[in-house]
Amino acid sequence: MQTIKQPALRANMLSKMPSYHKRFTPIACTITGLALALIIALFYWLYSTSKDNILMSWSNKAQQTAQNVNYYMKMPMDAVAFSSLKVNEMLAQGLDHETVNHYLVNETAIYAKVIDENTTGVYCYYRGRYLDGSGWTPPKAYQPKERPWYKAALQGQGKIVLAKPYLNIQTEIMMTSVSQLLNDGESVVSMDIFLGGVQSAVYTIGREEEVAAALILDGEGFVVAHSDTDKIGIELGEHGSDLERTILQQFSQGQTLTKAREMKQEEKETTVQRLELNDSSGKKYTALLTKINSDWKVLFILDKDKMYASLVSIYLTSSLFLFLVLGTCLSVFLHMSRKYQEAEELSKEIQAVASIYVSAVKIDLASDSMTIIRSNPDIEELLGGDMANFSGRAKGLAEKFSSAHSRELMKQFMDPTTLEKRLSETYSISQEFVDNKDRWIRLRFVVVDRNASGALQHVLLAFENIDEDRKQQEALRKLSETDLMTGIRNRGNGEYLIRKAMAEGIKGMFCLMDADKFKLVNDRFGHATGDKVIIALAKSLSMTFRESDIVFRLGGDEFAVFSKGVVSEEIGRKIIDRLFKNIAKIDIPELHGETIAVSVGAAFFPADKQDTFESLYQRADNGTYQSKKVTGNSVTFVGPDEPPSPKPGL
Ligand code: GH3
Ligand code: MG
Repeated sequence: MQTIKQPALRANMLSKMPSYHKRFTPIACTITGLALALIIALFYWLYSTSKDNILMSWSNKAQQTAQNVNYYMKMPMDAVAFSSLKVNEMLAQGLDHETVNHYLVNETAIYAKVIDENTTGVYCYYRGRYLDGSGWTPPKAYQPKERPWYKAALQGQGKIVLAKPYLNIQTEIMMTSVSQLLNDGESVVSMDIFLGGVQSAVYTIGREEEVAAALILDGEGFVVAHSDTDKIGIELGEHGSDLERTILQQFSQGQTLTKAREMKQEEKETTVQRLELNDSSGKKYTALLTKINSDWKVLFILDKDKMYASLVSIYLTSSLFLFLVLGTCLSVFLHMSRKYQEAEELSKEIQAVASIYVSAVKIDLASDSMTIIRSNPDIEELLGGDMANFSGRAKGLAEKFSSAHSRELMKQFMDPTTLEKRLSETYSISQEFVDNKDRWIRLRFVVVDRNASGALQHVLLAFENIDEDRKQQEALRKLSETDLMTGIRNRGNGEYLIRKAMAEGIKGMFCLMDADKFKLVNDRFGHATGDKVIIALAKSLSMTFRESDIVFRLGGDEFAVFSKGVVSEEIGRKIIDRLFKNIAKIDIPELHGETIAVSVGAAFFPADKQDTFESLYQRADNGTYQSKKVTGNSVTFVGPDEPPSPKPGL
């Protein structure tokens, strides 16, 4: 029984491993590429949509600011409209200054409650006199008709108008006035409005990082409110920054942008105009302009980089993260693919090794069942489709599968009760035997796995056809035992077999034979003829002795025979005579009629209890030596003590 230490075969497990990677690597790369393109497209779409939304939110803020300013101005405008109506009536009735003044005081008191923070009150120029509802007395130099509120009313020709912001003499701060020319074409009702509320609307917006400037302009481009308070009151077209002036110019020339998506939202599209431009340093800006109900406008100048900075960082971070995730997925896939490839390579190699086995059966020792791993008709016939009860059937299977003389050996090998012990220190055990079809088979148990406590769980039973190997081995063995020239046994093999027979106590006759004057044959007829003679002598020996006798060539022109069971000189002599006769029959034309003679020395085994091969050989050799003294064929029998007596042959 042979044992070989090697790892358990995994051929079957690995052979079932699919070669997905071959098909999936290009597919995975394509999918990843498509996913990348899709992600980039999606991100671009999200980015531009988000940009539009940001823009939209700023448009909304601009509109909201316009609405706030409008709301802020509405109450004073309504108040002026109402008061003008009343004073016009008084004017028509020709009421005096005191009555009108009284009315103005009352009105101011009412408005003080409602719009106190916005205004100082209602005042008017009535029939040549300045009357003030808040009770303010103007300085002597005060010329009502020179004041912006009066000039604006005159210009308005009866409409409610807003005056350019101006320094209010009463409050000494920037204010504007709502005023209306009355029916006499000279009298005016007016109300001052603090610009604080308007200023705060743009000031808060202006604090936001992305806002370069937020301002409110009147119809003539005069700055009513500005996030930069120093610019309140200036003519933007003349004293604004380069950027502000350019924006104003472009807006006035109608060079505005309208986006397709803004077109859908008609309301916004019509109320918010947009400009995209760079300043002299190349910095990008977006300007939004929206009208307030009067001819005032709200203008936002936005720093584009800052406006979309958060967006860029969000999308950059998330796309980086996505690329990272995708990259990780791809590298994991490629790694796995490589592992699969390696495993498949390994599988092929193991399969190549496993193909040594004509069939293999996996045995689950816990469930006592079998699974065919590598199928072959013989094994299928043997198992007959029944994969259960391995332990109960093992010996029966061994008996059924093996030839008669291998049966016992096989039963022992297949014995499941001793399997654990036999595989305790090795991965594999094997047994060679002849099967029921007379083929040499090697059967091998291989450990597949053990449980946690080390007991066998699965074993592989592999069948290897070694018939061809055996034949080759046999041929090689024969070759090593044969004398190449004559085809009979060589010295090593002959001597080995004789010693073996002697050890077994087999009695017999040992003869040594040497051709006479053989050198002369070579010299006279050539070496090739000499060879023919040696071959012919070997043939004569084989013809003379039985199959069971050990006939061999010692070398040169010397031969030896151990003739089993020949124990008397009388029988021995008869056999040797037969040999001489056969030698005499040798007919080699190249010898030209020359005959071959041999000298034989013979001895019997055992001569005594201590007899050895060496002493047997020595006796026979002595006999040959004696025979040489006689011309022609002769034999000399030598006993243990006897002096040798050569006898000539027939
Ligand atoms: P003797 O009668 O004393 O035996 O004389 P002999 O000439 O036979 O001498 P010996 O047996 O000592 O020598 C054997 C000769 O056989 C020596 C060698 O030249 C020759 N010989 C040995 N092997 C071969 C062989 O394979 N072929 C041939 N042709 N000759 C061989
Ligand atoms: Mg000789």
